Amino acid sequence: MKIGILALQGAFAEHSRMLEKLGVESFEIRKKSDLTNAVNNNGIDGLIIPGGESTVIGKLLYDLDLFDDIKNLILNGLPVFGTCAGLILLAKEIENDNRSYFRVMDIKIRRNAYGRQLGSFFTKSEFKGIGVIPMTFIRAPYISNVGEKVEILSTVDGNIVAARENNILVTSYHPELNPDLKVHKFFIEMCNKLKND
Ligand code: GLN
Repeated sequence: MKIGILALQGAFAEHSRMLEKLGVESFEIRKKSDLTNAVNNNGIDGLIIPGGESTVIGKLLYDLDLFDDIKNLILNGLPVFGTCAGLILLAKEIENDNRSYFRVMDIKIRRNAYGRQLGSFFTKSEFKGIGVIPMTFIRAPYISNVGEKVEILSTVDGNIVAARENNILVTSYHPELNPDLKVHKFFIEMCNKLKND
C-alpha cells in the first residue's frame, strides 16, 4: 500500500504523519514526474488532496500540468481523500463561486461556509460506521447537496461535512490535525478494498 499526497500547498505533512502512524507508506507529489513515476511503477494505491487554499492549489495543478493526470486517475477509480480545500477541488459545483476544478464528485458545496474570519472551530461528531471523532474546521466548506450515489458520513448542525461516492472520500474538517487515526484508517481500508475488487 502506497499513498500519494498532493504537496503543493497546505496541510500535507500532517497527512503523511497520520499514515506513518498507521504503518502506511506515502510519498509527496510536488511535480508531474513524482506522479508519473509512481503510476509507471504501479506505486500509487490512493491519493490525498489536503486542506489549504483551493484557489492556490487549483492554480498550481494547472501550472505544473498535474490537473488532467490526476483527474483521469480519479475517473479511472484511484481512491482519493480530499480534506477541506481538497473537498472543494473534487466537488462538481461550488454554490458561491463560479470556479470549479476536478468536478468528479456529485456534490454541491459552499466555500467558507462558516464565515471567513471566525469560521474556525472544533467539535466532536459521529462518522458513520466508526463512531464519534474530533473535527477541526478551518474556514471550512460544507456540502449543501448530494447526488443519489453519494453516501453521507457526517453532519454537524444539520450540515453535511463528510461523504463518500465510490472511490472518493471527502471531509470538510481536518482529521489530520487531531491524533485520532480513525478517518485515515477508514480511507486505507477503502483503498485496500477497491484494490482487491
Ligand atoms: N477556505 C479554504 C478554501 O476555500 C479552505 C480552507 C481549508 O482547507 N482549511 O480553499
